[in-house]
Amino acid sequence: MHAEVIAIGDELTTGQRLDTNSQWISRELAVIGIPTSFHTTTTDSLDDGVAVFRAAIERADLVIATGGLGPTADDLTRDVLALVAHEPLELRTDALAAVESRFSRRAVPMPESNRRQALFPRTSRVIPNPDGTAPGIDIEIPRLTTGTSRVFALPGVPAEMKVMWSGTVLPALASCRPGGGTILFRRIKCFGAGESAIEALLPDLIRRGRDPLVGITAHEATITLRIAARGRDEAACRARIEPTEDLIRATLGGLVFGVDDDELEDAALAALTRSGGSLATAEIATRGRVATLASEAAARSPSACLRGSLVLPDHDAATAVALAERARRETGATHGLGIGQVGVVDGVEQVGIALVGPHGTRVEEHRLGGAGTVRLARAAKTALDLVRKSVQSGGPAS
Ligand code: AMP
Ligand code: MG
Repeated sequence: MHAEVIAIGDELTTGQRLDTNSQWISRELAVIGIPTSFHTTTTDSLDDGVAVFRAAIERADLVIATGGLGPTADDLTRDVLALVAHEPLELRTDALAAVESRFSRRAVPMPESNRRQALFPRTSRVIPNPDGTAPGIDIEIPRLTTGTSRVFALPGVPAEMKVMWSGTVLPALASCRPGGGTILFRRIKCFGAGESAIEALLPDLIRRGRDPLVGITAHEATITLRIAARGRDEAACRARIEPTEDLIRATLGGLVFGVDDDELEDAALAALTRSGGSLATAEIATRGRVATLASEAAARSPSACLRGSLVLPDHDAATAVALAERARRETGATHGLGIGQVGVVDGVEQVGIALVGPHGTRVEEHRLGGAGTVRLARAAKTALDLVRKSVQSGGPAS
């Protein structure tokens, strides 16, 4: 089975926006063992779309397209698919109800143009969109030559596309693959070492063709190892995943902070809360990143004990220890986490991180390496990781 990935939108062909969807989708396909043979990017025009899809269904067994499913006049993917499949568009009442309910929940009348989003080629299936109004389209289109090609059309908004991919497309692909069976993923989340350092610790694991397959990705200094196992059913997949997960945990030890959707800030707050503590933060160098991460974790877990966060301007000269003490004092939290600047060493900015708890203080200095947002995210996560490590090791600030 070979795939083609199609990105649709004038904003892509004019270079105003980078097509990140195709990269993401091809990586996902690779993980489940489906190679991508073509990436095609096309405009919002009907004629271009028809030409691209006609070519794609002839040369690929699987076509994944993103974009052009919105309610406006330039969103023509549904019309393109109807033309290529030689099928009329018909109104699906269940899809219309889903689009309407998104508007009624917000107490906004649905514009007439959104009705278009409930039109589907006759033999196609609706791919639900839990986060937006544009449902996707799943259709099998006969080739001019022999056989058929399976087409999944998803909206262009990356976040919506990814949720629909995991919720509907991936399970559909697992069930239609030759040999049937299912695919299960387990993500092991790590922090505290770079992608290549972690890869070097697990040389035999991240090898193409290994079974189960392990992929490694980095996002804002968090490293994710994703184990993908194929099997008869979920239990069989789980049994295949377990030894690989055990090996990763045994090798990486404390670098592993969680699994699947866990984030570092969740792990840090959970560790502290479990030990009966509470946290307050104060930061200079990280411009509110620690406050954002900690408050997001607190919002996800009602039991997490975050007492408050303080963000001070860059020119404030307070030390990390002074900040941590102030956060603790002002909020009554058991633990204060402070992040301050310590200056520039060899042209590299350094941040001071301090955790002050009932039994003592722990201070660390870190280089702010990397670029842009990754640099600040790494610094913020390093600070939050100090909370996790201190509580787990029972050190001075535990
Ligand atoms: P659409 O589904 O065509 O209405 O796309 C909605 C929005 O998603 C666009 O305005 C873009 O900002 C974004 N988008 C569309 N296609 C892509 C793509 N291939 N990669 C990244 N972002 C995209
Ligand atoms: Mg568009």
